[in-house]
Order: sequence, then C-alpha cells, then structure tokens
Amino acid sequence: MEKRQFKAESQRMLDLMINSIYTHKEIFLREILSNASDAMDKLSYRALTDDSVGLNRGDFKIVITVDQIARTLTVSDNGIGMTAEELENNLGVIAKSGSLQFKQEMAQREGLEAADVDIIGQFGVGFYSAFMVADNVKVVTRPFGSDKAYLWESDGADGYTISETVKDTVGTDIIMTIKADTEDEKFSDYLEQYRIAALVKKYSDYLHYPITMLMNKSRQKPRPADAGEDYTPQWEDYQQWETLNSMVPLWQKKKEDTTQEELDAFYQDKFGDWEKPLTTIRVSAEGNVSYEALLYVPGKTPYDFYTREYKKGLQLYSSGVLIMDNCADLLPEHFRFVKGVVDTPDVSLNISREMLQHTRQLKVIAKNLEKKIKAELLKLLKEDREKYQQFWKNFGLNVKYGVVADYGMNKDKVVDLLLFRSSEAEQGTTLQEYKDRMAESQQYIYYATGEDALQLARLPQAERILDKGYEILYLTDEVDEFIMQTLQQFGEKQFKSINDDDALLETEEEKKAAEEKAESGKEVLAFVKQTLGDKIKEARISRILKSHAVCMTADGPLSLEMEKYLKKQGGDMMGMKAERVLELNADSSAYKALQRAVAEDPETAELYTQLLYHQALLIAGLPLEDPSSYSELVCKLMK
Ligand code: ADP
Repeated sequence: MEKRQFKAESQRMLDLMINSIYTHKEIFLREILSNASDAMDKLSYRALTDDSVGLNRGDFKIVITVDQIARTLTVSDNGIGMTAEELENNLGVIAKSGSLQFKQEMAQREGLEAADVDIIGQFGVGFYSAFMVADNVKVVTRPFGSDKAYLWESDGADGYTISETVKDTVGTDIIMTIKADTEDEKFSDYLEQYRIAALVKKYSDYLHYPITMLMNKSRQKPRPADAGEDYTPQWEDYQQWETLNSMVPLWQKKKEDTTQEELDAFYQDKFGDWEKPLTTIRVSAEGNVSYEALLYVPGKTPYDFYTREYKKGLQLYSSGVLIMDNCADLLPEHFRFVKGVVDTPDVSLNISREMLQHTRQLKVIAKNLEKKIKAELLKLLKEDREKYQQFWKNFGLNVKYGVVADYGMNKDKVVDLLLFRSSEAEQGTTLQEYKDRMAESQQYIYYATGEDALQLARLPQAERILDKGYEILYLTDEVDEFIMQTLQQFGEKQFKSINDDDALLETEEEKKAAEEKAESGKEVLAFVKQTLGDKIKEARISRILKSHAVCMTADGPLSLEMEKYLKKQGGDMMGMKAERVLELNADSSAYKALQRAVAEDPETAELYTQLLYHQALLIAGLPLEDPSSYSELVCKLMK
C-alpha cells in the first residue's frame, strides 16, 4: 500500500514529540479523550435536528479497553466519525497551518529553545501526542451517514496509510500499541487500569460523557452455609464496567471544589492556549435568568486578535449540552478578548441560531457578564497593578477602541479602565489618578499626541506646561486623540491639547503683552505667510512657546496627528489636511534675526523663513516635502 508522507511541519512536530520528556507524555490521553468528546458533541448536536442519528444524549459514551498481551490501549467513541477525506485532512497535518510555527516563535520569544521539548508539555498537540507513548497508532472510523469505514495507520515518522475496512457502528476507535519499556521510561504503565483511571480523573474528569472501562476486580466469595470453624475466606476475580469520570462540567462544580490548576488546565485545553490565563472569572446567577459562567482573560494576545480572523464569543451550553461554539452576542466588542463558557437552562436546546440572537435571556446574561468582566478588571487595577498592566499591554488598545466605537455609545462603560503614559506615570495612569494629582490652579487635563512618549516630553509646546508643574498625558496610539475628542472631559475637567493657545490661563498683563507682541510682529508675519504661501494657513506670534524658536500647530478640528493618521489610512486622498499654523517665538534670537533680515535683507529673510518652517515640520514629525532642497538651504546659509 502506498505510504503517504506527513506535511513538513507535522514531521518536525512528530520528531519533537517522540523525544519529549516522560512527565509530559501522559497528556496524550487527555488529547485523545477530548477529541472523542468533540466528535460526540458534533453528532449529538446533529441529533437535535436529524432523527436518523437514532441516538439520545444518554447513549453517547467513551469506552477504554486495555489489552496487556497485545500491548494495546484503545479509546472508542460513538461520535460523528471521519470520512476518508477528513482522515486525510485532519490527521495528515499536525498543527493547523502556521500554528506550529507560531508556537515555536512564541517559545523563542519566551527564551525557550525552539527545539525545547518543553513546549510540548505546555500545550496540547492533539491526536499526535499518541506517538509519545505508542509506536503504532490505528484509527478505525466510520462516519455518520455512511456504511463505509476506514483504517488509518502509522508508525510515526515515516508516514501513514489509509485503507477501507469494516466497522459495525458509527464512531471511531483509536488503537495505540504502547511502546516497549526502556531503562528510563515505563510505558507499560499505560496498560495498567489504575493508571488509566487516575489519568482520566486528573485531566478529563469534567468531560460530560461517561468514560467507561472494564475493570478487573476481586471480591470475597460468600461464606458457604456449611463452612466450619476453620473456614478461610475465598476470593474470586470478576470484571465490572466502571465510569471513571464524574462528568460534572467544571463550571457547574462548586467554587470550593475546583482548584486554580484545574481551571487553568481547562482553559488551556479548551481554547488551545499554551499560556495560563491572566485571570479567571466565575459567575453563578440564579433568578430571572439562571446561568453559570466560567470566563477567562487570556495571558497573551492571540496572534490573530487584531485581525479579521479572530472570532469573539463564548461557548453556549444549555444544561451541559453545547448549543453554540461561538456565541458572539454574549460579549461586547470592548471585551472581545474574553474567552469562556456560559451554561443556562433557560434557553431551549432546539432554538435556531437566528432566534437565539433575539432571546431576552441572552441579552440579560450578556449585560450581566459585561458588568462582571468590568468589575474583575477594576479589581485587578486596584489590587494587582502589575497584572493589570500586563492585561493593558495585551488588550488595552481594544478597550480604547471601545471608547470611540459607535459614536462613543459605550464610553462611560470603559473610561475607568483606560491607562495612559504621562509625565508623572511612566507605567501609565488612570484618568482618576491624574485628576487626583491635579494642582488646584490647574484647569485642564493636558495631553500631547505623537509617536513616542520621550519625544513628546521634549516638544517645545510641552515646556511651559511642565514648568508649571502640570502633568501631561503622552498619547502615542493613533486612536488616543479620537478618545480625547469623544470624551471631551473627565469629571468636570476638560481635556486640552498642549498645542492650544489657551491651554494655560493668562493674566491680564500677559494677555496684553501677547497682543502687543502680535501687533509689533505684523510685518514679519505677513512676510512669512507670503513666502510660504499655501503651505501654511497662518503665521503667528506664539503664546505657547517658551525657549524654543518655532513649532507647528493646527487650527480647526483636524490636528496634525490626525492628519498623519488619515494619511496612513489613505484618507488624505479626500484632501483632509490640518490647517497648519507656524508659530514663532518673538523672544527667541532666531526670531530677532528674522525680524532684522525682513527689514534689511529680504533675500536672507526668505532663507530664514524656509529654515524655520522646515524645523517646525521636523519637530512635529511631519515629512519634509523636499529634503534635498532643505539641505541646499542649510548649505547656502553656511556660506
Ligand atoms: P484538534 O483536536 O485540536 O483539532 P487533533 O490533532 O487532536 O487537533 O485532531 C485533528 C482533527 O481530527 C480534529 O479536529 C477532528 O476533526 C479529527 N478527529 C480526531 N479525533 C477524532 C475522533 N475521535 N472522531 C472524529 N474526529 C476526530
């Protein structure tokens, strides 16, 4: 029979796995059992709408058989089975496209060697983990709706075969021939009933189908009626089917009956994350709508989180029966990173998905969960700042989008969760913390926008604010400025850009002095505007500069940062440009030189104007229209 080769990355994974260290190997059983359970979920879901399945929920079960002579461990299920094509597609590749590479990259980033066998232990690698303990694996499967059955067989590294076979019932048998013992590893353990029973208990207790095994037992024979004084008790061996798992779903167990380890393992297994969750949220509600929820905030940003591929949602169960794998309506967009399960007896099993969206029960649950998630995050913020910062690093951007989405409809729900870097708080400050630090004389909450906090701290415009001892929020995400515009204020304090003329209160004297300066600068300003033409809307004697000579600001609703953002988004094609204002510091020596030149030597004055304009662009992080002419300009001046 023709041997087929595993896809390249599967090959690598297999090598890794086969050499994995012993203590990790036991997870193979969890992986095989969880596949069986999934297959039964699929068929039982099908049974809801298709009478030809002919099975009731109670008919589904997993059977484990051990044969010590043949050295086989067999896991059988009566789930949905696989077609020949599915066998090829599902078992011909190990990790789905890219995911192995991704995991290896992650491992590398974490400082683990790519080839470090440890990564195996940290995440499930599904079906293939069978090869950690078996040197031959057979999969006999008959898919629902067909009377054909197939045998998939492999000895590991050198490929697999698929052929037709016979099987009486729909479902799958995984037959693992357990490896011979070596000096260090006693694989025979996996042929011991007590060991198998313990592994089921440890990893798969909550699976909601019975996992049964024919157990060897021994019991005392009843004492014969005529036994004399010297009767010694007699023993006999017998066999009995036993259910190894309690079948209570983890989320239905009482809080005190579960360990964090169990909750973490459940998360990792169910949601395919090799990292532990950052935090676990348990909700148990009774009353109008009853439900149990077990929610998690992941410890890492899923690699596809900020892409279209990512699907938000929670698993929805009705009294322990899965009815929807990804119920998006249970989570608001701003908490789309949350994973977990919700189980409620109050939605009917047979409800269609379209109807489900509109059920009142679901809306009630979603609303409550949103509150619980927020409460948990606020608790973290208060009690474990470091963890919260970790959360913020991973998902903060998503929460920020929650402020501006839907025209700010949800802004009040998330505003307390926001963290921003500031001149006072390198690790981030909440708006409340900022407000609490405000000086009495401080009228506004100040912010500066740009790409990098260090750069912002050195902006000419920042100087006078910082000199007053006022704090500035350093906004470095593109969405931040839109947040300021959406929020407008926090408490009664308005947000104010450090670029605004009226960012600081002026005394009557200061006002008068500024007006006088503007008056006396008229001639210079007119010259500058004439020289630069449409490049700027206006030249102005600055009220916001302290020691620097120039800066660029913008009038009107569109700021320079927003212009940059729109440009990136391709929005500048619509001609969206900020109204640029070139601000000159009348007290600076550069200005005085310009003033002199305007009066005495217009040619030099033109050069000075160009120079100052380009400098303003550079400081604002705006591109120079023509860098080489700028360079010529500087050289000309050096002559
Ligand atoms: P995962 O379970 O993470 O998808 P696996 O490597 O464990 O990855 O399994 C690959 C696929 O093979 C499963 O998604 C499923 O479609 C199929 N499969 C595995 N075991 C069974 C089974 N017992 N019954 C039906 N299908 C199965």
